[in-house]
Amino acid sequence: MNTDVIERLLALYQQIDEETTAFQAVTGLQCPADCGRCCENPEIEATPLEMLPLAIELLRQGKAQQWLERLAALNERSVCVFYQSDPLIPGNGRCGVYAGRPAVCRLFGYATVKNKQGTPELAACRHHKQTVPAAVEIAKAAIIAGVPAPNFSDYGNEIANLDPNLGQMQMPLNQALKIALERVGLIAQFGGE
Ligand code: SF4
Repeated sequence: MNTDVIERLLALYQQIDEETTAFQAVTGLQCPADCGRCCENPEIEATPLEMLPLAIELLRQGKAQQWLERLAALNERSVCVFYQSDPLIPGNGRCGVYAGRPAVCRLFGYATVKNKQGTPELAACRHHKQTVPAAVEIAKAAIIAGVPAPNFSDYGNEIANLDPNLGQMQMPLNQALKIALERVGLIAQFGGE
């Protein structure tokens, strides 16, 4: 496994976390405690590269096969395999791999997309808009005023540049995890990068 690429990916994750934390501090925009609504979207996408750190850790723990079997039992409408929904409160839940989650999960609700003019706009979370609309308006105004916020496509490009093969293919998160687990499994068995 190319450890240099993994280290640079983890450094990008740290950079994203620092930027979103700073943006939250300036705007006051925060997720409601225990909210898992973004994780309940079966269309969340990531690249196999982003799932490699988790796959390496699951392999190290001897759990790679177990998670591949879990993934095999899912379909394309299944939510993220790591999501632990709260059985009592609809919409609440937690991430089972928070420290290792991919870029999209770190950026969601606090990052921008570029509009037709190339100007960054907040890709606001629907639940934020419903529950904390004032904070969302403050965040939008802050971005217009030049307050820095992470951008989805900028980070997408940085990740793709790390590995144009595994870092470019956006796909449903569970599928990306499957490819990453198979990859580390093959490397563990036969060697290579
Ligand atoms: S990796 Fe974690 S944060 Fe991302 S969708 Fe899955 S459960 Fe949610």
